This record gives sequence, structure tokens and C-alpha cells, in this order.
Amino acid sequence: MKLNEAHPGSRAKVISVGGTGALRQHFLDMGVIPGAELSVVKYAPMGDPVELLIHGYSLTLRLEDCGKIEIETLPDKAPDESDTDNKASDGRKGGKGSSKTFASSHPGLGEGGKFHPKGSGDPLPDGTLLTFALVGNQNSGKTTLFNKLTGSNQHVGNFPGVTVDRKDGRIIGHDNTLITDLPGIYSMSPFSSEELVSRDFVLKEKPKAIINIVDATNIERNLYLTMQLLEMGIPVVVALNMMDELTANGGSIDINGMESMLGVPVVPISAVKNQGVAELVDHAIHIAHYQEKPLKQDFCDESDHGGAVHRCLHAVIHLIRDHAEASGIPVRFAASKVIEGDELIISQLGLDDNEKELMDHIVLQMENERGLDRSAAIADMRFMYINKACEATVKKPGVSKERVRSEKLDRILTGRFTAIPAFIAIMAVVFWLTFNVAGPWLQDLLASGIDKLTAVADAALTSAGVNDVLHGLLIEGVFAGVGSVLSFIPIIVILFFFLSILEDSGYIARVAFVMDKILRKIGLSGRSIVPMLIGFGCTVPAVMSTRTLPSERDRRMTIILTPFMSCTAKLPVYAFFVNSFFPARGGFIMVGLYVLGIVMAVLAACLYKGTLFKGEPAPFVMELPNYRLPSPGNVLRLLWEKAKDFLRRAFTVILLATVVVWFLKSFDWHFALVSDSQSSILSSIAGALAPVLKPLGLGDWRIATSLISGFIAKESVVSTMEILFGTGIKTILTTLSAACMLVFSLLYTPCVAAMAAIRRELGSKWMIGVIVWQCVVAWIAAFIVHTIGTLI
Ligand code: GDP
Ligand code: MG
Repeated sequence: MKLNEAHPGSRAKVISVGGTGALRQHFLDMGVIPGAELSVVKYAPMGDPVELLIHGYSLTLRLEDCGKIEIETLPDKAPDESDTDNKASDGRKGGKGSSKTFASSHPGLGEGGKFHPKGSGDPLPDGTLLTFALVGNQNSGKTTLFNKLTGSNQHVGNFPGVTVDRKDGRIIGHDNTLITDLPGIYSMSPFSSEELVSRDFVLKEKPKAIINIVDATNIERNLYLTMQLLEMGIPVVVALNMMDELTANGGSIDINGMESMLGVPVVPISAVKNQGVAELVDHAIHIAHYQEKPLKQDFCDESDHGGAVHRCLHAVIHLIRDHAEASGIPVRFAASKVIEGDELIISQLGLDDNEKELMDHIVLQMENERGLDRSAAIADMRFMYINKACEATVKKPGVSKERVRSEKLDRILTGRFTAIPAFIAIMAVVFWLTFNVAGPWLQDLLASGIDKLTAVADAALTSAGVNDVLHGLLIEGVFAGVGSVLSFIPIIVILFFFLSILEDSGYIARVAFVMDKILRKIGLSGRSIVPMLIGFGCTVPAVMSTRTLPSERDRRMTIILTPFMSCTAKLPVYAFFVNSFFPARGGFIMVGLYVLGIVMAVLAACLYKGTLFKGEPAPFVMELPNYRLPSPGNVLRLLWEKAKDFLRRAFTVILLATVVVWFLKSFDWHFALVSDSQSSILSSIAGALAPVLKPLGLGDWRIATSLISGFIAKESVVSTMEILFGTGIKTILTTLSAACMLVFSLLYTPCVAAMAAIRRELGSKWMIGVIVWQCVVAWIAAFIVHTIGTLI
């Protein structure tokens, strides 16, 4: 039967995995291979996706994708068995109930030379920069370890050509080192942009060594990536992280045994508690300095199913060796990728037709003998070896405290009837705390600080007799403009504080799981919910947070949808019009505007889905990590990074834009200072724009001016109107035009800060597209409101 027919609670064994291409490879890489045992944990509240337990971790799949997986149900476990084993293990023998324990202590650097065969052999010349790549699964503790290793010697950038964060840093105390934190990946397949980035980094930038971080509590799935790293023939040291958690739950690992199975140094660490990290650094430097390659690269077994995979691999290795050497790809790695059918590697190798045909025959022969197709056979070979290694060296913990706690929390947080109310409640609390409690208080504090500073500067400039023009520029332009933006730092930082806690704790993954079905209807996948939510706060962090999305298509589509979310900077605009025109119906209008934004986003998404972004949303193959308490260090560091990022922007883009607007509003076309802004350049530009807004009942140049100033920041729509209209707004606008103005302000272009963020993520063309498109949408929506309004 198919996996989508299995009931929650049932156990099953995978018989075959259907599907094609990226998705299928992803299944296999995540451990859904023929022969693997799994249990169905639960369906999401809306019936899709499904949470499974496989290789001891939680995996989510969509029902549709489950339909491609053929299974055979297994009998339920006997009660006594499930006591010790429970759901935390998928039923493999891995030491369950056995009495073996392993001392986790590590004999130390050198170990009689066993894993440092060269010892004092032929090291790299002194002074060579030792470059390291930090590679590991998501949630394996990479960020935590990276921060421990580098302290504050790090800087964040992008990998060339893609907007995936790249963090580099020096290892504390070792000046000639450079460590790069690669994106969290599950495999070296080229199917997600992050996996490709990591693979290209290792193949092309050739780090001197790899530090592979492995989550010891989830060792089988994590070692899958290790297997592929070992094939690359670059020195590797394995950091077994989360050892504190493993040992606290009664598990242990025979470190020396693991080392001899893997042929590389293995160091047990706890990144959070900073245990073993110094030893890890010693090993890493040693293997890099002496260029100690893994002692083992051959994980195929001669006796496995008649050795079909073994023979195939070695035949292909011989066949492609010269090509691989010529194109600089490690031969063993190239061979297994070729057998998996990796088109990129095949074309990089430049095989001729004869050789390709020969290879296809070899692979076909293997498939026939092994009874599995090419990708499954390779994945199976890797997992077989992993199982062998784990059976020999790992004593799995009983059900871990973390797992039990996660299951309890999930009963509510992903429970059928409680998930959505819980989600709404959590978001409400986060937004309430950010925008009502902590944010405004700090914002007021900062704003009054800035005001004081402005007053002091103003007085100083006056007493120094500074030229009026310069004075105006500094006070009205720089201090007022940049100052008003700077006062948003507290809100942004606090919002990020909550969101990073939600994310690091593992809750955001659950939200994506719960909301996936709804978002699929509009062509997105569950993970896009996060940026949308942040967009209610501010579009800038919303756009930045799309980096966590796995597919480029989803990421782009999400970015151009975020401006529809009503950001907090628009609140003053709403408040201004509500007070003047609809004092009795304020709440109704506010809620209506938020809902209108969402409705427009849904409509836009439906439009994009069929035009700009054809194709399927990313497959929803996602791990649900156990809930963990985020480490304060990580959170603080993240906040600091965000604040720094924002400051940098405030003093570049925003400063420039402010100066430009100040200039336009203060001078006329003869560059003479004007006393009344009506004769300024800004007003004549705005006057030219006014006819465009006439059909919306907004044909006054002052309205156009206010809207233009909204490009800088949405709040300045209000401040500009207050200056230009005074209290006379009601004599110029009708109630209907006020309604049109509200709709227009909600939907039209995002502010400069948001534009800059969009440009950084998508490039200038997209940014201009978004600006024009939002204005068009706003115009149409306001026009509809105006037309309906005039009719009734
Ligand atoms: P990344 O996704 O690989 O960057 O992982 P993070 O560094 O964000 O860590 C994921 C979670 O695991 C965080 O909540 C960390 O606090 C936690 N964590 C990291 N290292 C350890 C460890 O050694 N022991 C324990 N118990 N938790 C850890
Ligand atoms: Mg991380």
C-alpha cells in the first residue's frame, strides 16, 4: 500500500520510492529508502502534510508525495518493547536494551598516530592560510559552534552570485585560519541552491579541511552527509555535537570505534557548553596542516547483494579517473554522483558518447542485480554502512527527555484543534509585546534622545552662525529624516528577538507544517508564512527573512508579496485619516485595511502563480527538530547583526534619499531657496503627478507631495500633510477621497528601506518592477473604491 493510506500511529517499512528528479533524490537523502522503517506520527490539522518518524527523527511530507512511497505495514510493537524504544527509535537494533556502554572520553590528539598517520610528515609550509569549511545538517549546532570557534572575529557576506548568507571568521587564537560556515544541508546533491553552494564551495574553493558537525542524538541521518564528505578526499574531522544531551539520556558512543569505522578523527563536543571545542580545534588544525586525507573512502561492501554496487562503483571509478582528475573533481565522489545520475557532474567530467554508453550499461547491470534503481542503490549503500558503524559503536539513548518534551508540546502546538488557535495566540502575544509594550517605550526613549540631540545640534549650529542652507539640510534633512528612521531600531530588534527565539526553538518549523496546506492553495509552501507574518511589522526584516526558504521560486514570490502586508509604519497614516473622517468607525476601518492587504496578497499570489512563477512550490520535505532552548549567545549575536545591518542602511540609502527630498522641497528650478514649498521643485514634480491621481479624487498637488514623501518612509505621508494642509484637510478632501487615500497608502510602493532590501535580495530590475506594480495595483484598487463610492 501507499504511505498516504497509513493511519497515524502505524508502523511501516518502505518498499519502494517513486517520483523523479529532485524530489526523489531529496527523499532518499533524508533517509526514505527501501527497507527503512518508519512510523506515522500525525497529520497536520488540515489533513496535510504528514509527520513521520524515520531514523529516529521527525520528517514531514505532503500527502501527495507520500502517495509515491510504497510501504508494507508492520505489526505494532509489543508494549514492553515500546517502553524502552518508544517512538524515538525506528526499531533498529542500535543498542536498544543492550547493556553495552561506551566511555565517551577521547584519548586525545595523536592516538599513537592511528588517525594522524603522517604525524610530523610533510606539513604545509608554515604560514599557509588554513581554510576550513564548517559543514553539517540544519539544526546540528553549526551556528553555535561557529560562534564559539570565532568569537567576534567574523563577518557576514553573501556567497558570490547567490543570496545565501556567508559567514567567515578566524578561529580564536589561530591567526592563520579562516573558517566558513556553509548553509545547513542534508546532502551534496545539487537540488537545493544551498546544497549546490556548499558543494561548489568544497569543490572549487578547496578548503584545506572540513569540520563536519554531526548531531549525535540523530546520528544516522547526520552521517549520511559525512559519507559524502569523506568521498571528497579532503581532510575531515567529525565533531560529534550534542554529546551532553546524548549522555544525559543514557546514550554513549565508542569514539575510537567510530574513528576506525570512518577513518577520520572524531571529537565529542557540546557546542553550547563549550566542551571539547578546544580539542576539536587541535585536531582540525592538525589534519589541515598535515593534509591528512580520510583513511577510508570505500564504503561499498563486496558481500552486499552479490557486490553489485561495489563492482559498479569501482568500474565507474576506473572509467572516469582521468576525466575526474582533469576536471579537478575527487574521483570517488564523482563516481557515486555519476551513478546517482547527477547531470551536472556528468557534464563537468566531459565524457564522450562511448564512455557514457559504457557507464549506462554498467549502471543498468547494477540496477538489475541489486533490484534497486541507481539513486536508491547508492543511498542504500551509504545507509548500510552507517547502520553497521552505528550498531558497532553507538548505544542509543532511551527516549530522550527532549523528545518527550517535544511530543508533549506538539500535542498542543500541532494538535488537530489547538494548533491554529495556539499559533494565533503566540503571534498575537509577540506582536503585542513588540508593538505595544516594549517597542514603543524604547522607541519613545530613543526618539526623545534624538530630539534632544537635534535641539542641541540646532542651537550649536545657530550660535556658530552656520549658513542657513547647510543648517536646514542638517536639521530638517539629516537629523529629522534619518532620526525618524533610526527610532525604529528598537521595534525591529525586538521583533527579531522574538522571531529568532521562535525559530531557534523549533516552533517556526511547526508553523510551516500547520500552514502548508493553506499556502499551497496560493502557490506557496508552508515556510513562506514566516516572512508574511514579519511583514505586518516591517517589510525590511520580512524580505531579509526569506533567505531561509529552500526554493528560489518560493523566495522570489514571497518577497514580492510581502509589501501587501500592512506594515506598522502605515498605522500613523490610518490614524490620521480615521481621526479626521471616520472617528466613529476607527477599529472597523483599521481591521478592514489589514484584511484588504491580505486579500490583495492572495489575489496577487494567484495571479503570480499562473504567470511569473509557474511551477510547483518547493516540496515540503522538512525536518521537525526537537524543541530546544535557544542559546542566549546566538540570540544576542543575531540581534547585534540585525541592528548593525539596519544602522548601516540608515546611514547610506536613507540618508541619501532624505537629503534628496529635502533638496527638492527647499529649492526651485533656479536652485534658489524657496520660502513656500509650493514653488519648489518637489511641488512642480508633484503637480505633474497630480492629474494621474485625479480619477481617485486625489488631484491636489499636496496629496501627491505627501504620497511622494511616503517613498522615504510611510510615516512622512502624515507629517508632510500636516505641514501642507494644517487642519484644513477636511475642506479639501471628501470622505470618499479619504477612503481612496487609505486604500492607496496601504497598497502603493514600499518605502526606500524596503526597496533597498528588495534590491539587495532580487536586484534592481525586480525592485523597479515591484515599485511600479504596487503603484498600479494601488491605483486600480483606489479607482474601484472611488467608482463604487460615486455610484452609491
Ligand atoms: P544550526 O541550524 O546548525 O546553525 O544549529 P544552531 O547552532 O542554531 O543550533 C540548533 C539548536 O541546538 C539551538 O537551539 C542550540 O542552542 C542547540 N544546540 C547547539 N549545540 C548544542 C549542544 O551541544 N547541546 C545541546 N543540548 N544543544 C545544542
Ligand atoms: Mg544556524
